[in-house]
Amino acid sequence: TISMLALDSQGRLAGACTTSGAAWKMHGRIGDSPIIGAGLFLDGEVGGACATGLGEAVIRVAGSAMVVELMRNGMSPGDACKAIVERIAAKHPSVADLQVGFLALDKYGNYGSYAIHKGFNFAVYNNNGNTLIDAVSKY
Ligand code: ASP
Repeated sequence: TISMLALDSQGRLAGACTTSGAAWKMHGRIGDSPIIGAGLFLDGEVGGACATGLGEAVIRVAGSAMVVELMRNGMSPGDACKAIVERIAAKHPSVADLQVGFLALDKYGNYGSYAIHKGFNFAVYNNNGNTLIDAVSKY
């Protein structure tokens, strides 16, 4: 999955999410990326979030919408991502083979991320230039 969250100098948010799909997407499979609220969600009053990993697990909890909702209620982007990853992990008997990660950006430009496993990276471009960041992960 490649997702993007953007905030312009006037405080306008935008986002996009595209994917080749889990295991290159079987015929007929939708996945979370094209479902607003699952793979991507934005609210100009709060911020935005996007997901990567097993789409079915993200859809079940309306993952990106929930991350934004937690930010609306005062959580930081990173803590909100972690809370929803943990909600998903708790629904699975084993997370050994389950990867899910979220990236979030609030309307003030704060961002954060969290994934179950290592290997989820994201790039930040702002006034300080371009930075590649490893998402915080549980394992
Ligand atoms: N979330 C995507 C899907 O389930 C997979 C990915 O992260 O690449 O289709």
